[in-house]
Amino acid sequence: MTLQTLRAALAEAEAGEYAVGAFNVSSIDQAIAVLDAAAAERSPVIVQSIAGMSAYDDESRWWTRLRGLVEEYNEVPVVLHLDHGRTYDDCVRAIGHGFTSVMIDASRVAGTDRPASFAENVALTRRVIEVATPAGVSVEGELGTIGGAEAGVAGVVEEIVFADPDQAVEFVAQTGVDALAVAVGTSHGSVKFTDEAGGQRLRLELIAEIKDRLPETFLVLHGSSSVPADAVAVINAHGGGVRPSYGISPEQKAEGIAAGIRKINQGTDSHLAWSAALRRFLQENTAIVEPSEQLRPAISGFREMVAQRMREFGSAGRA
Ligand SMILES: [Zn+2]
Repeated sequence: MTLQTLRAALAEAEAGEYAVGAFNVSSIDQAIAVLDAAAAERSPVIVQSIAGMSAYDDESRWWTRLRGLVEEYNEVPVVLHLDHGRTYDDCVRAIGHGFTSVMIDASRVAGTDRPASFAENVALTRRVIEVATPAGVSVEGELGTIGGAEAGVAGVVEEIVFADPDQAVEFVAQTGVDALAVAVGTSHGSVKFTDEAGGQRLRLELIAEIKDRLPETFLVLHGSSSVPADAVAVINAHGGGVRPSYGISPEQKAEGIAAGIRKINQGTDSHLAWSAALRRFLQENTAIVEPSEQLRPAISGFREMVAQRMREFGSAGRA
């Protein structure tokens, strides 16, 4: 069985004390890179897409093809997940296209960067649960404010408001979400932190406390790409202009997993791996116009990063 719900995949991760990586894709080629890595590493994987973010004009056709592609990889468990659904309608459309999991990010009011009130967040999340649960689809919610710039999200939230354990317990009681994105010291986007902070970015004790009080809910780390310096260096050496910054180190993520994190989003690292390989190839091979030759290094660069994360998260060899 290829397709799994998020709850099923993360229950396995809980039992095995590892985390499942979630990788953002915006084209079929990228999805193939992620799924090939999962097959090679014998790893469960979460393939995720953001509404309104793909290389194609027709989102319905893109999602239909993405679902079909996932079904072809029947050797590994795959969760097809909507990342950062902003509205009820985003989630309903994803469910209609066969996604097995949706995130409703009701922590901010859609179309603005105004933080939603707790009651607003609960109300929208509950509406999504009411349509997802009968369809057998898992739901991820978000509590607190994870700072930084999420692609496709209006504005940049500079301030990180840490998740409050009492609120987390109340939120889960009122909504029944399967998984919860918690603000525990990470930040979205390719420019994260300007200092290394001694490798102590994550609030590990906060993760452990929320985990302890919510044993049936799976905790998700957003904004936790590593922003590898070598990928940024390759991009900038080949015509790019990415501002160097520090992300969350692999060691910190391992400590997060030990504290109870079960899903780790790697959106920025996905984009960096793809862009670095593509930029290098195009600048070093200015006469090559054959798309297959251009895409091959991008796909393999992305695939190698994904495989590395699967080994780091302990999910490799579990499928
Ligand atoms: Zn996120």
